[in-house]
Amino acid sequence: MKHTKAGAFLLDLLWPNRCDCCLRRIPYDALICTECAHELNTLRVSNGDWQTCNPEVQVPWDGAAAVCKYAGAAKKGILAAKDGRCGFVRFMGTELAAAVRELLPEQLPDLITWVPVTKRRRLEQGCAHAERLAKACAETLGIPAAGNLLAEQSGKIRQHELPKELRKVYANRFTHTGVRLDGKTVLLCDDVLTTGSTLIRCTEQLREAGADKVYIAVIAYRMRE
Ligand SMILES: [Zn+2]
Repeated sequence: MKHTKAGAFLLDLLWPNRCDCCLRRIPYDALICTECAHELNTLRVSNGDWQTCNPEVQVPWDGAAAVCKYAGAAKKGILAAKDGRCGFVRFMGTELAAAVRELLPEQLPDLITWVPVTKRRRLEQGCAHAERLAKACAETLGIPAAGNLLAEQSGKIRQHELPKELRKVYANRFTHTGVRLDGKTVLLCDDVLTTGSTLIRCTEQLREAGADKVYIAVIAYRMRE
């Protein structure tokens, strides 16, 4: 359904638009509040920071783009996305696109994909936030988004509820779908980079499907204390 601007304004009178991070009321056409946008600026990271904090982790990707640390407004916005609200994720899609341009100034990737979720989890969550992030980023960069490259086998376990040592085993549930990526450069999106196990597995799977280069792009890095 196509909303007119006036329609969106009227809808806002009934269901006020709120910032995902702090729940303050915001204009009907805003994605987050100016205070949280300012706070996110104070949390900014450089693209390579996660690897610098985790030099012992062997990563299969060719480079990583990220916007900020997983703290404050970023943490609240990501948790809101896991809960089905997506204003923050759409806002971050544009920010992440800028980080990707900085990482790859010469040649943008051929296509963007994301860490998949099962249909069941998608229903539970209301929106697949990694997918929305990837699509917002793809739109800003003007490159195609492809959702048919990776799949997650169904199951009842939720990864963020697992202890760290079991996450690696859980990550093996992600597989490529058989779509060939020979010679392609792929950008893989997710919300947070924590231990890296999911993104490592997905990167390996994309390579197995023939990808020449794989870069990752995340909203936030969970940094070591
Ligand atoms: Zn806010």
